[in-house]
Amino acid sequence: MAFRHSHSLGQNFLSDGNLLSAIAADARLLPGDAVVEVGAGMGALTEKLASAAKTVVAFEIDERLRPYLDALCAACPNVAVIYGDFMKSDIPLDGEYKAAANLPYYITTPVLFRLLGDPHCRSVTVMVQREVAERMTAKAGGKDYGALSVAVQLSGEARITRSVGRHMFDPPPNVDSAVVHIEKYSEPVGENVKKLVRAAFSMRRKTLVNCLTGNGYDKNATLSALGEMGLDPAVRGERLTPRQFAELAEKL
Ligand code: SAM
Repeated sequence: MAFRHSHSLGQNFLSDGNLLSAIAADARLLPGDAVVEVGAGMGALTEKLASAAKTVVAFEIDERLRPYLDALCAACPNVAVIYGDFMKSDIPLDGEYKAAANLPYYITTPVLFRLLGDPHCRSVTVMVQREVAERMTAKAGGKDYGALSVAVQLSGEARITRSVGRHMFDPPPNVDSAVVHIEKYSEPVGENVKKLVRAAFSMRRKTLVNCLTGNGYDKNATLSALGEMGLDPAVRGERLTPRQFAELAEKL
């Protein structure tokens, strides 16, 4: 019987061999690498990752995919599949790993934040909605720039490696997609910076000073820090680069 895709689990599968190889190549895997995949599906991407890396730990929430993934594990002994919700599961690896996935779009942000916040994760290569990819890689002042852009770009160097049309998926989703590769920096992002960025984007169209004072920051300290950085006191958060947010957090 044909497999019935679950829309609510984001089951839009890939099968084009060239595209799958290209996504695996975007992850810049080395033969000694451990890879974590979120959402193995029928294992099409898992197989490509397994042939480029030492081990693959693939998470899959839908037990109905077991027969396909059992067959894959029999053919690729360096693949281990964990059946469960990635957001509720431990990652059974001791050392560093690279993450690669054609993500289930309904949990894009929590998965991204988990991977970006995990110091063991060295890089993230993910298929996301095209619009999310544009926000992740947007530059300060641009229309797509916001809290997600700053969070991603404080964690690492992010770029879109390829655009993928909706017709490449089975079944096709309602949106086009893109692959984003993030090469993470070795320094983790401090809690003070994360808190500042959340506050800075908490109120749309307000000045940065108003957003920060509305979230408990001292007005005079904020104004003087902006002055020291050569920034207009009426500047909006969406004008500051990720580096300027880090500098401001340091000053405050
Ligand atoms: N990697 C496969 C491919 O490229 O064809 C499947 C990708 S599909 C977009 C996303 C997969 O994630 C689905 O198989 C879905 O069942 C699985 N999934 C959804 N939510 C999940 C979760 N919370 N944890 C683990 N897997 C999940």
